[in-house]
Amino acid sequence: MKRRVLTILGATGTIGVNTLDVVARHPDRFEIFALTGATQVERMLEQCRTHRPRYAVMSEPAAAAALRVRAAEEGLGVEVLEGAAALTEVAIAPEVDTLMAAIVGAAGLPATLAAAQAGKRILLANKETLVVSGQLFMDAIAASGAELLPIDSEHNAIFQALPGDFSGDFEQAGVKALWLTASGGPFRTLPAEAIAAATPEQAVAHPNWVMGRKISVDSASLMNKGLEVIEARWLFNARPEQIKVVVHPQSIVHSMVEYADGSVIAQMGTPDMRTPIAYALGFPERIDAGVSALELMGRQLTFEAPDTARFPCLQLAFDALAAGGNAAAVLNAANEVAVARFLDGAVPFNAIAASIAHALGRLVGGAADTLDDLLEADRQARSVADTYLGALRA
Ligand code: NAD
Ligand code: MG
Repeated sequence: MKRRVLTILGATGTIGVNTLDVVARHPDRFEIFALTGATQVERMLEQCRTHRPRYAVMSEPAAAAALRVRAAEEGLGVEVLEGAAALTEVAIAPEVDTLMAAIVGAAGLPATLAAAQAGKRILLANKETLVVSGQLFMDAIAASGAELLPIDSEHNAIFQALPGDFSGDFEQAGVKALWLTASGGPFRTLPAEAIAAATPEQAVAHPNWVMGRKISVDSASLMNKGLEVIEARWLFNARPEQIKVVVHPQSIVHSMVEYADGSVIAQMGTPDMRTPIAYALGFPERIDAGVSALELMGRQLTFEAPDTARFPCLQLAFDALAAGGNAAAVLNAANEVAVARFLDGAVPFNAIAASIAHALGRLVGGAADTLDDLLEADRQARSVADTYLGALRA
């Protein structure tokens, strides 16, 4: 068996840690070329001891300096690099055949897009990359022959439920709709006033999944599902009206594909990201993920419509998709800024949706043909959202 050589972008995050857990179960299949993080020196040091990568990148230079000293003291034999350019270097190095893209936010875009251009096998967790640059990213994949495997549990489920030879043609494959399941997040049953008064601690307390703080807030606002609608549009070449969202609080059905003959094929499992990670790492083989078996006896699975009145972010994502052009990049950037401010305790929860709506109103319609256009839309939206949020108080 040829061992796959991996770079993990965002190794110190939740997805990164889960990826290394699966990798460690299969030393015959995988070896680590590079691990990357931003600021968490202790965790990266621990990962270097266990996985012995050739390179460790810290995007923050001060963290890189600290790691370099400690790694040398311990004789770990790892070369420590720093800064954003080094993320791209280790993503596209010729030795690497597989990239786990698990940086959070648009910060992951340059290195992930470079890997798409370089024809790597890309395991995509960083949904913001597709939200910001969907068309460019998919064009790059098609041009280079890169292989794209979704890690987001919903998209991984849909990938599993589609025909193996699915080409993006819904008619030909007899596909009627893609059904994204949403847990509904921690505020699913709360009245609007309680959601408005929610604290960061309440927002990051997800009922079913352990995730990074940004995506946890996105799950509470349903923006995560909105970003996933846009992600599905690009991954599967779906028209917006072919993408449906259903709230399924138990997070057992990870998503579904509805066919012309009335069949609905669902992928189910214990909510544990190691399942989609192992699926993509081993593809097309199935490998052990260390995940506990799904226990269905005595369980109830329920489904309900999402409430876009209490959770306006979901509708904003559909609006951005309909607007096209730079709209999704604007939506994503305004959301990132607002979530960071909310987590800092500087603005209330409802400011997230308000700042996105404000930025969309101000900026939609700008150029969106090149990567520079999209990065400019991202920059402008951050600035517009910053100004807007600066005038608010928590
Ligand atoms: P996390 O916050 O736990 O980890 C983020 C990682 O990105 C860390 O390694 C951090 O060091 C790195 N990072 C952050 N800012 C950076 C920057 N500016 N430059 C370079 N590196 C930076 O997040 P997570 O929960 O692991 O999520 C990662 C991505 O995967 C997100 O796009 C998220 O939407 C997606 N995702 C996560 C889950 C999940 O269950 N956690 C599920 C589906 C999709
Ligand atoms: Mg998801």
